[in-house]
Amino acid sequence: MAAIAGPEIERLIQLLARVPGLGPRSARRAALHLIRRRDELLAPLAGAMQVASERIVTCSVCGNIDTADPCTLCRDLRRDDSILVVVEGVADLWALERARVLNARYHVLGGVLSPLDGITPKDLAIAGLIDRVAAGAVKEVIIALNATVDGQTTAHYLTDMLAPTGVKVTRLAHGVPVGGELDYLDEGTLAAALRSRTAL
Ligand code: ZN
Repeated sequence: MAAIAGPEIERLIQLLARVPGLGPRSARRAALHLIRRRDELLAPLAGAMQVASERIVTCSVCGNIDTADPCTLCRDLRRDDSILVVVEGVADLWALERARVLNARYHVLGGVLSPLDGITPKDLAIAGLIDRVAAGAVKEVIIALNATVDGQTTAHYLTDMLAPTGVKVTRLAHGVPVGGELDYLDEGTLAAALRSRTAL
């Protein structure tokens, strides 16, 4: 297909088309929208992206993404140190925060166990999780993993690994559809799932 704009605009469109949820058509529409609103949208967005690309780091405590290490959540003194929520990825952490049910601490595993994909315990932030629980302040670990085979396999593995610490281990119950992914659930479903968590 022939280019309809100069290489700079074509590049903007090509990059936007790689954003999840945007295809080539939506990317063209988004690019045009940004260009038409250069002062109030395109320039501030470019500035925000520049700052983000320079300053974003992974929190060394919980694995969240932020512009500071420890992250904003880990530095928040009002959070309950006795509850630790284990999630697969940052998107899940952010989804649970949107549900506004918990005021807890988090731990991002960075994936789930998957023999087919060669993901073993050493590929995940499991040692750090055990260390955090063994430190003593945590009274309950909520395993908030996707309701997939790999997610549930990982939940059972974590339960076994945490057993020697004597901590209470719970997991999400009602609300999460089988095969569902946390990031795609609405806040109400996530809230119900958190409230009805059960012991493993
Ligand atoms: Zn953190």
